[in-house]
Amino acid sequence: MIIDHDVIILGTGLAGLRAAVEIARKSDDGVNMAIVSKVQLMRSHSVCAEGGTRLYFARRKGTV
Ligand SMILES: Cc1cc2nc3c(=O)[nH]c(=O)nc-3n(C[C@H](O)[C@H](O)[C@H](O)COP(=O)(O)OP(=O)(O)OC[C@H]3O[C@@H](n4cnc5c(N)ncnc54)[C@H](O)[C@@H]3O)c2cc1C
Repeated sequence: MIIDHDVIILGTGLAGLRAAVEIARKSDDGVNMAIVSKVQLMRSHSVCAEGGTRLYFARRKGTV
């Protein structure tokens, strides 16, 4: 069986998921996308990141 995609993203950490969101947004959901991960979704290193991501969300809320 051959599966076709316009875009294949390797990795379901913050980088991969952010890329997927941006591609979907810019293409108005017009891109057939696959996201592939070596490890289970909730096992990427991004799950461990607290400080950097917390700062990002705090800035968006205007609390920093
Ligand atoms: C214990 C720990 C604590 C941390 N704490 C912080 C913190 O407090 N603040 C902070 O800013 N940062 C922190 N970091 C760093 C932060 O987690 C990373 O910089 C960030 O998550 C990287 O995101 P990423 O999407 O590039 O990679 P990752 O989240 O590592 O995702 C990589 C993805 O690629 C996939 N992948 C890898 N190889 C393959 C392959 N051959 N084929 C298919 N898929 C593949 C993996 O399965 C995974 O889904 C921490 C990291 C660790 C390990």
